[in-house]
Amino acid sequence: MLQMVARGIMWESAVETIHFGTPSDLDAFWMPFTANRQFKAQPRFLVAAEGMYYTSGDGRQILDGTAGLWCVNAGHGRQEIAEAVQAQILRLDFAPTFQMGHPAAFDLAHRLVEPLPNDLNHVFFTNSGSEAVETALKIALMYHRLRGEGSRQRLIGRERGYHGVNFGGISVGGIGNNRKFFGNLLTGVDHLPHTHNIEENAFSRGQPQWGVHLADELERLVVLHDASTIAAVIVEPIAGATGVLIPPIGYLERLREICNKYGILLIFDEVITGFGRLGKPFATNYFGVVPDIITVAKGITNGTIPMGAVFVRQGIYETFMQGPENAVDFFHGYTYSGHPVACAASLATLDIYEKEGLFAHVEEVADYWENAAHSLGDLPHVLDIRNLGMLAAIELEPISGKPSARGFETFLRCYEQGVLVRAAGDNIALSPPLIIEKHHIDQLFGTLAEVLSQIN
Ligand code: PLP
Repeated sequence: MLQMVARGIMWESAVETIHFGTPSDLDAFWMPFTANRQFKAQPRFLVAAEGMYYTSGDGRQILDGTAGLWCVNAGHGRQEIAEAVQAQILRLDFAPTFQMGHPAAFDLAHRLVEPLPNDLNHVFFTNSGSEAVETALKIALMYHRLRGEGSRQRLIGRERGYHGVNFGGISVGGIGNNRKFFGNLLTGVDHLPHTHNIEENAFSRGQPQWGVHLADELERLVVLHDASTIAAVIVEPIAGATGVLIPPIGYLERLREICNKYGILLIFDEVITGFGRLGKPFATNYFGVVPDIITVAKGITNGTIPMGAVFVRQGIYETFMQGPENAVDFFHGYTYSGHPVACAASLATLDIYEKEGLFAHVEEVADYWENAAHSLGDLPHVLDIRNLGMLAAIELEPISGKPSARGFETFLRCYEQGVLVRAAGDNIALSPPLIIEKHHIDQLFGTLAEVLSQIN
């Protein structure tokens, strides 16, 4: 075992051994969404984390500007979660949730729906955001079929949308590279236009004024395909992975109206916006727009244990409960749906969010965050800055003929200077843990300012 992992220095801590330095074999692990050859030539290791900081393989403190991958909302190294996970493994390590139950899954479902509006009051568990999306799409299709509207099979996504990497998700998703290599995808899918237009809404603070009319494109798709063929529309309330696109004022409301008019289900993919990112439990609370289905993951366990979930409205759940009582009502589920350990991690996470008032903290620092982000507006290469809640993006002008190169260089330089940011093409996306304080905000944007002044 040691031979496999350690050529680097071993550091003994009270409870565990942490590996510093470079593993002896970098080849075997095919890294996801990574330039593998570049990484393996110039590796960057994160070996420990606490609060707002990672420790890098070379022993430096790296400010986490991305909450890992938009998921570590309560900050790193949370003792309460570790203890809950350990206790759960010792009490009940695994139990199936097919035709059997364990208490933590029911307790968690109950807790999760508490802050949700209206009758969004049922939870289906998955292990990731991608699986939550597949589950939501299948629920939408089967819901209509059970109601005798089986012709509603069409799914509408949005350009630049990210809904994970499984076939349903990339079909409704709108990021070219995530789709184009993978064949025909799902049939019967169409897309709304994305809402980003630099001429109209660059440097908006919060929601852009321009763009509500883009929701009316849904009316055009209804004319084209007929409402009787459309099952659902899925959007991220804020398109995150593509580079943080904030919805124009009135846009989500308008989508809701049109969906109501034509009996189309509205799905919000809240894998990023859920669990306090906007200073409220979910984006639905923040925007006051209530979808029929919500997908979540990431912050549900503070990123500690893989978990996702789908929230559905009472009427949808009831529609599935019409068949014979002893027959399976939804032919879908994962071995690890509602895994006891993930449930324990999530319950402990929700306790932290609540006890520490982390969502209210976002509201307290949001203005400072916004001002700090927009202070970079006059720096070289900056085309746009966008923000809402504890999210922001800086869009850089691409180097001619080399899209993404400037974004990647910015990411590398920031890492060298002790700050982790995420490059989505030439957009630098920021989504720090919600425990962030003003001095961290200063460090984050101060480093970015330095780097943007240095790079070509
Ligand atoms: N949906 C959205 C909006 C996301 O941002 C992500 C991941 O970033 C996903 C789905 C997929 O989640 P996962 O990577 O857990 O499958």
